[in-house]
Amino acid sequence: MRNRTILCFDLDGVLLDNTLLGFLKVNQILVELKLPPVSPDFLREHWGKKMDDLADLICHLQGASKEQTACFKKREKEIHPDYVFDRGLLRALVTLPQFGFLTAIITSREEMDFRKYTRKIGLNPGIFHYIQTTDDYPCHKPNGNVFIPLINWAHDLGGGATAENIVYFGDTIKYDYRAVINARLQGRPIKFVGVCSGINTYKEFRDAGLEETEIIPSHDNLSFYLNRLIQERVREKKKQKVS
Ligand SMILES: [Mg+2]
Repeated sequence: MRNRTILCFDLDGVLLDNTLLGFLKVNQILVELKLPPVSPDFLREHWGKKMDDLADLICHLQGASKEQTACFKKREKEIHPDYVFDRGLLRALVTLPQFGFLTAIITSREEMDFRKYTRKIGLNPGIFHYIQTTDDYPCHKPNGNVFIPLINWAHDLGGGATAENIVYFGDTIKYDYRAVINARLQGRPIKFVGVCSGINTYKEFRDAGLEETEIIPSHDNLSFYLNRLIQERVREKKKQKVS
């Protein structure tokens, strides 16, 4: 990795190990609305979609009325399951900038929901250098154009940062990795790291073409992976000093 590296994270399922909690929440709301629950396999298939679109799909399939659909969307924004942000991961995130890394988030959440949720779980958005919610740009994953504002931001920083300096960490093949592949097809060679946290498995990421080194086998390993990047920089610095 070159000196200026931008580590961009998906929020749900990557910075947060909240996939199962999200599944439970969907079914809790359906039960409240007296609608049938959906299967984990169905949710795994569509997880990563913009929540508004996912809500429309779920409600349509479960035979919800217009009122029930509106209520589902309202409740989805109101309920934030208890979640404690991983302290080890937080330490790694705040340490990364001391070693030349910039951190960013591109999430499929709306701005207001993102602010509300991060406040609730004690994650200070101010530690990130760049944040993009669905309110910030009209293109969403898996559209490769979703990365255009981040690439422009990186370019405006100066220092020759381009798409090649960006690594996107995602937990879904269908939305996150697909967005990166689409960006690459448009000539923006963003790197990708897959995080296995409940949607796609290690094998599925491998079958989709990722190398072993591009897959983090469980959410617990994310802070370890980031700390290893820091250690690599420490070793590089030591080498430079010796030579
Ligand atoms: Mg995700």
